[in-house]
Amino acid sequence: MVEPKVSVIVPVYNEEESLPSLCRRLFGVLDGMGKPYEVLFVNDGSRDATLPFLLQTRKDRPGTMRIIDFNGNFGQHMAIMAGFENAKGEIVITIDADLQNPPEEIPRIVRCVEDGHDVVGTVRRQRRDSVFRVTASRLANRLTNRITGLSLHDYGCMLRGYRRDIVDIINELAEAATFIPALAQKFAAAPIEIEVAHSGREQGRSKYGLFRLIRLNFDLMTGFSLAPLQAVTVTGILISVLSFLFAVFMFIRRLVVGPEAEGVFTLLALLFLLMGVTISCIGIEGEYVGRIYQEVRRRPRYVIRKIYDSDPPSE
Ligand code: UDP
Ligand code: MG
Repeated sequence: MVEPKVSVIVPVYNEEESLPSLCRRLFGVLDGMGKPYEVLFVNDGSRDATLPFLLQTRKDRPGTMRIIDFNGNFGQHMAIMAGFENAKGEIVITIDADLQNPPEEIPRIVRCVEDGHDVVGTVRRQRRDSVFRVTASRLANRLTNRITGLSLHDYGCMLRGYRRDIVDIINELAEAATFIPALAQKFAAAPIEIEVAHSGREQGRSKYGLFRLIRLNFDLMTGFSLAPLQAVTVTGILISVLSFLFAVFMFIRRLVVGPEAEGVFTLLALLFLLMGVTISCIGIEGEYVGRIYQEVRRRPRYVIRKIYDSDPPSE
């Protein structure tokens, strides 16, 4: 068998509705490219008919399709990690299963890698998500670039291409909580960003609620920078200086005006404000401590129940 040149990794979590048309379009594009390829589906603990469907499809696609079956839900990024560790191709592409990223863009990405780029990032042209998500993610992109010192225009778009050497570096790191596009960007020598089409989710629903998106962004910010910690320190210093000045002012006022007991509610408001700031700061510190804990504990990042290899499909 020829070694696959292009590996396509698809994380799937309860995507039974999207899979039929995804497979049709994805395999169509890959067949048309005329290069050896493999598609690696990572089943991230789906509870619907995702796995049976994939197993069935594998029978019709001998030699081109592998399935990694997780024994629980470990998240999209861990699914891609597992894909990275098992991919055999020189060029590795990641794509969502929900067809929001059209598989038809894959040949362009492959060409960029062949032209010498080690990481091909993508920016969603005319993004079709809710106004709330588009605005929130625009803000998050800007904040993240500021904090991490990276420059990516669209952290969320997961239709991306990676060259073998970058994949090897990422595999070696084996980070517990991570954000793959940012990680790749950090180690890329010749990255490029291209625009890709984007469509609304037609089947199934988004797997990311608000809370999960916030968690993911914490991963991104604390995983790639110490800036939040430094912000805590600076905030502390600032508050200390201001309160010192205020104390001096109050002392002088006490001497000039005499004792006063007004402004109790202003005091209360100030107190709550400072309490809020303090708790947030403890929270930020905690984010880092929690991550250190995760790393030192060295639990497996994901557990694979079974890998269904491309051939021969016997069961
Ligand atoms: N996904 C996954 N595990 C999860 C959540 C999502 O493997 O815990 C997959 C999902 O099946 C899809 C991709 O990651 O292929 C992106 O998910 P989704 O489309 O829900 O995210 P959105 O487009 O809303 O950001
Ligand atoms: Mg989606």
